[in-house]
Amino acid sequence: MSSSQSRFATDTLVVHGGALDGDTRAKKAHDAVPTPIVLSSTFAFADTAELRDHFEGKSRRDEYGRYGSATVRSAEAALAAVERAEDCALFGSGMAAITSTLLAMLKSGDHLVLTSDCYRRTRQFVSGMLARLGVTSTLVEPGDLGALEAAIVSGKTRVILTEAPSNPYLRVADLPAIAEIKKKHRGLKLLVDATFATPINMRPLAFGADLVLHSGTKYLGGHNDLLAGSVGGSEALVSAVRDVRGVLGGVLDPHPAYLLERGLKTLSLRVARQNDTALAVARLLSDDPRVERVFYPGLTSHPDFEVAQRLLDGAGGVVTFAIRGDLEGTSRFIDALRVATIAPSLGGVETLVEQPALMSYYELSSEERAKVGIPDNLVRLSVGIEDRDDILGDLRQALERVAS
Ligand code: PLP
Repeated sequence: MSSSQSRFATDTLVVHGGALDGDTRAKKAHDAVPTPIVLSSTFAFADTAELRDHFEGKSRRDEYGRYGSATVRSAEAALAAVERAEDCALFGSGMAAITSTLLAMLKSGDHLVLTSDCYRRTRQFVSGMLARLGVTSTLVEPGDLGALEAAIVSGKTRVILTEAPSNPYLRVADLPAIAEIKKKHRGLKLLVDATFATPINMRPLAFGADLVLHSGTKYLGGHNDLLAGSVGGSEALVSAVRDVRGVLGGVLDPHPAYLLERGLKTLSLRVARQNDTALAVARLLSDDPRVERVFYPGLTSHPDFEVAQRLLDGAGGVVTFAIRGDLEGTSRFIDALRVATIAPSLGGVETLVEQPALMSYYELSSEERAKVGIPDNLVRLSVGIEDRDDILGDLRQALERVAS
């Protein structure tokens, strides 16, 4: 049975993948309970007859690590089950997944539409490298469905790419509405980077997306100890992306594939806790006069609150907010935090904090940052799984430092 039709709940699928749906009890190699790590980069054939059978598609087996291998396939099957996708392919990073997928879907002369809140390296790839290859693009503001529809050039636009929730303002694209627009154009595909949502809070394929992408580095791995990327969807589309992976070589290595599969087992537990704590954090900050504004899709004040209520099962573990203060006051707040570690990235068990002005946008002046919508007083907090009151207490004591 395809894992897209599993009768089991997500909390079971994260632990067992699609294994329970088979008619017989699935056994792992060496009778192991978790998936063993198979580190072989190449795979042996008993004789040339076996080789012939392989190339004629009569057997399903591994050949060479760049095309896949046992531990990677196991993690792919587990994620496909959780995502309720027919298939899933894993990559060495989120960017390897995104770039390989776009290269698989687009050719010279094609056009793509992407929302302007997509990850900045994704935008850089589109506006720089894809443009050099003859692929044109239009950036549209998040939430502006009219602009999105107007940007589509029938017969030329092949891809709509969006993210939900997006970074750093956690905008939630109205995927069912975008999918309706997409349906009016033959050959147009909707790709959604759902890194911030995770398959626990949202499964874009159920809302009409053709492919769902993740930086597995974040929540899927969940422990800030691996880099990975994924793409999930129909067998046909994922197979086309996997073929490109075999050429570009961005496949995930077996060791992080093992860690990713292990991380998946606790995904629903971690995300449920991160959703709860992040909502409490968002409420605490909203009530504090030292905080100018809070961006969290679980708050009624968020521009996409209504969309989030329809699409998300939880509003996620990231809270973005603006401190009532300048660059230095905001840095004092960040430096005073003890539970939160100052680091880029998000989605792990450790609470991480960053001041985007001093991280991704460091090279810009204050004025330039303001122009691109990143004020000096902005803070992005990725809530971990530590005790909720410790996280809240840490924020309270650090807010005391803003004015000093
Ligand atoms: N997509 C989103 C939404 C991200 O935030 C990131 C990284 O921050 C990426 C993709 C890229 O993922 P990776 O760092 O695993 O290449």
